[in-house]
Amino acid sequence: MRLNHPAMPVSLQGTLYIIAAPSGAGKTSLVSQLVQTIPQLTVSISHTTRPPRPAEVNGVNYHFVSVDTFQTMLMNKTFFEYAQVFDNFYGTSKQTVFEQLQQGIDVILEIDWQGAQTVRALMPEAVSIFILPPSRDILEQRLRGRGQDTEAIIQRRMQAAIEEMSHYPEFDYVVINDNFEQALQDLQAIIHSQRLTRPRQQAKHGQLFAKLLA
Ligand code: 5GP
Repeated sequence: MRLNHPAMPVSLQGTLYIIAAPSGAGKTSLVSQLVQTIPQLTVSISHTTRPPRPAEVNGVNYHFVSVDTFQTMLMNKTFFEYAQVFDNFYGTSKQTVFEQLQQGIDVILEIDWQGAQTVRALMPEAVSIFILPPSRDILEQRLRGRGQDTEAIIQRRMQAAIEEMSHYPEFDYVVINDNFEQALQDLQAIIHSQRLTRPRQQAKHGQLFAKLLA
């Protein structure tokens, strides 16, 4: 599947980034800082059937929907990809993501390894990044630190985190979130380097290149 709009060369479209991580690796905080520090970069807001956590806001963190609504959206082929994670469904809306990419905006999908596999199959040019914690102990501390889940849920999340981490070799880049600022700089470096690739530079500076060679 290509996103190629007939009137728009591929090189003018935004880059699609997949960012995955185990729960507790700090992905959401990093991505939220990342989009605030880099222009023309946005994060896709997924739909989920999971109930909101205390600080979460509908339309900001997720679009929180009922299982019925999610299933209707599925039938209407609303989703680019979707997956079941724990007991809940999560999905990425096709329309918003495609519109932003076609406007030349880079879009981040914060999704799990299953979603990452689907997106890679549909769009092999997507750039994928996996965020790892610096140790298992720190991961567990971070999961407990949230103070929002029971012991049984924490243990289940720990197992799920180990399962999620086993998929890191499928990703193009790996960032270790030991120090937040360093991890943020690593993510910024990845985005900047993608923007400096020849096809992107040709799309942006085509006239300059032509004049230099005239
Ligand atoms: P949480 O419930 O902790 O916000 O997210 C649980 C997992 O679901 C995380 O790994 C998160 O990245 C993933 N996730 C969130 N939105 C989507 C989505 O739209 N698609 C897929 N495949 N996974 C998602």
